[in-house]
Amino acid sequence: MSDNPLFAKPDLFAARRILVVQPHYDDNDISIGGTLAKLAENGAELIYLTVTDDLVGVVDQSLSAEKMAAWLKDNQYKAGDIIGVKEQYWLGYPDAGDYPYFAVRRDIIQHIRLVRPDFVITCDPWTPYEFHEDHIVTGKAAASAASLYGLTRLATTPEIDAAFEQAPFDIQGIAFYTSPYPNTVVDISSVWQKKQHAVAQYTAQFTEDDMTLLQHRLEIGARYFARDNDFEYGEALKVMSTWQLHGFGEAYKV
Ligand SMILES: [Zn+2]
Repeated sequence: MSDNPLFAKPDLFAARRILVVQPHYDDNDISIGGTLAKLAENGAELIYLTVTDDLVGVVDQSLSAEKMAAWLKDNQYKAGDIIGVKEQYWLGYPDAGDYPYFAVRRDIIQHIRLVRPDFVITCDPWTPYEFHEDHIVTGKAAASAASLYGLTRLATTPEIDAAFEQAPFDIQGIAFYTSPYPNTVVDISSVWQKKQHAVAQYTAQFTEDDMTLLQHRLEIGARYFARDNDFEYGEALKVMSTWQLHGFGEAYKV
């Protein structure tokens, strides 16, 4: 299949500037923090875009919303420094709440035009047993935005749209994490401690006991994804071209 251009896969590690779109503050780092650390070491600029405010998951619900938000951002900046994140943006939609899909898609299109990535990474919205609407909406809206951002009749803000029209650019590919159809396993053995150290910064979301369980689960997962390879720890992604995301019934085989 790999020699048929229909199933060709772009090179994630050729990416220079990557917009990584996540539903919650910690999804990128928990799901593919090792891959992201390796991409940063490889010279790629990582820009995170977080869709929700994440307030539902904060362990101390006695805090004000402002204090929760500050704590979450502090966690995220500390983790981002470890992974090598260059810039962070937030959309602030209500965590696990009721918000319009097309508003999220518009905001992601706006950030794509602003940030000018050559690759987009997000969670896979087509994972069959994923219940979490934030993950389904974010992944779907990011996939759609990465495919449609060039169509300027889909307006965002006049200045950003005008600047994009002056200097359009091409996205080379999109990668999904938590995918049921992964086509890429990244060897994260050299950055395994870095990933776990970054994940450990998310103290607003996890009690000490929950963090121990999470990191144990991540270790089992990373060993599982590396099982067919000669390395110890892996992360799985599905890497695609955006043209494969529309009208191609066998795209799951890419
Ligand atoms: Zn999440």
